[in-house]
Amino acid sequence: MGSRQWQQALEYVAADSSISEVILSGGDPLLLNDAQLAKLVAQIAAIPHVRRLRIHSRLPVVIPQRLTAQLQACLQSSRLQCSLVLHVNHPHELGAEHLAPLAALRSGGVCLLNQSVLLAGVNDDATILCQLSELLFDYGVLPYYLHSLDLVQGAQHFAVERGRALQLHRQMHALLPGYLLPRLVQEIAGEPGKTLL
Ligand SMILES: *Cc1c(COP(=O)(O)O)cnc(C)c1O
Repeated sequence: MGSRQWQQALEYVAADSSISEVILSGGDPLLLNDAQLAKLVAQIAAIPHVRRLRIHSRLPVVIPQRLTAQLQACLQSSRLQCSLVLHVNHPHELGAEHLAPLAALRSGGVCLLNQSVLLAGVNDDATILCQLSELLFDYGVLPYYLHSLDLVQGAQHFAVERGRALQLHRQMHALLPGYLLPRLVQEIAGEPGKTLL
């Protein structure tokens, strides 16, 4: 978004006192540099009725160096309760390089969550999905969503049938504590938000 659009979005949030959380997602918000992000976070924090800030980003997994000390300081020092939603699909995507930056964010009071996409041939296996949930918890991250791709969204060869997705989720439910079980969801065209399967 250009700064003009930022201003419009901020004005919209400021004008609606029922908005308690602002979500930065889409077009990856962590592509902003730390100075731009700090400015935006400060502008959001200046709106009294906003209590929470959430950032959805794929970058921390792909480029853990993006979790800089400045970013950590920015989120930690904000009066907003901050959450970072990671996008990890497979246990192999998390390594030693993620440990320190994630631990630093968490010790700074940032809530770490994860959303995964169920992908045929990649993670459509209860053992892999349970390993992923347990590994995420080792890194201080709670599994939040497991997305089932809509069959008409394209990428058909990665789509997992609804019945199979539900079966995998039931298997996970039997093997994991409740807090490590992600919500199985699908985005259905025309419906606001995600639909629980
Ligand atoms: C799901 C989602 C949201 C909304 O999150 P909720 O937790 O359902 O309120 C926002 N941004 C992205 C990219 C999402 O996938």
